[in-house]
Amino acid sequence: MDDAIAQRYQDILSGLDQLAKRHERDREDVVLVAVSKTFPSETIEHVVQLGQRIFGENRVQELQDKWVGLKQKYPDCRVHLIGPLQSNKVRKAVQIADVIETVDRVDLVDRIVRISAEEERLPDLFVQVNIGEEPQKAGCLPSDLPDLVAYIRKHYPGKLRGLMVIPPADEEPAPYFAWTRRLADKLGLLECSMGMSGDYDVAIAQGANLIRLGSAVFGPRGSMQPS
Ligand SMILES: *Cc1c(COP(=O)(O)O)cnc(C)c1O
Repeated sequence: MDDAIAQRYQDILSGLDQLAKRHERDREDVVLVAVSKTFPSETIEHVVQLGQRIFGENRVQELQDKWVGLKQKYPDCRVHLIGPLQSNKVRKAVQIADVIETVDRVDLVDRIVRISAEEERLPDLFVQVNIGEEPQKAGCLPSDLPDLVAYIRKHYPGKLRGLMVIPPADEEPAPYFAWTRRLADKLGLLECSMGMSGDYDVAIAQGANLIRLGSAVFGPRGSMQPS
């Protein structure tokens, strides 16, 4: 297997210890979600064997193709859906995902409520916020957030854990992370899922609880890793 992955993984973990100290964060409050999208099950298993248990996928199809099998083999692994969820894929997502991080609209909540009851499975939820109010981006607008949070709390019997954001690509992310943290605190939500390979240090400084790292762990996507 690819030892570059083991090396990167160890470097990230020791880096997280240092970042937590530097920013006066409890180390347990900064959780690494290893984003395994595009990587095959064998590569994911390598990372499981390094000790990682929490993973992220951005497509429901990949969730199904890889994680039904992986979770049978490694029942203590948890997988987060971190990509857009179309209404017709809710059943698959509810069946497989442990956490859905991309809830962003009332009709999607209604479907999750109905289908989770039918499936007798209640994934934890995050609301994705379009924190940069970018027209092309998924996520609920900050102005709509209080109503959506109230709606989920009223109707969903499972857990609403926090907010997930992807700040605008071409701007300084710190103010967006800081704003997300303030929104979460104001709404009594405990967790912020923010920060990716390029900006997780900034996100941790601003109060991230989940950081979603893909290429920092697995290497660049779209090039097969040599074994
Ligand atoms: C792909 C992806 C990530 C990880 O991106 P990297 O830059 O490779 O760390 C994080 N969050 C979401 C929503 C993603 O789609």
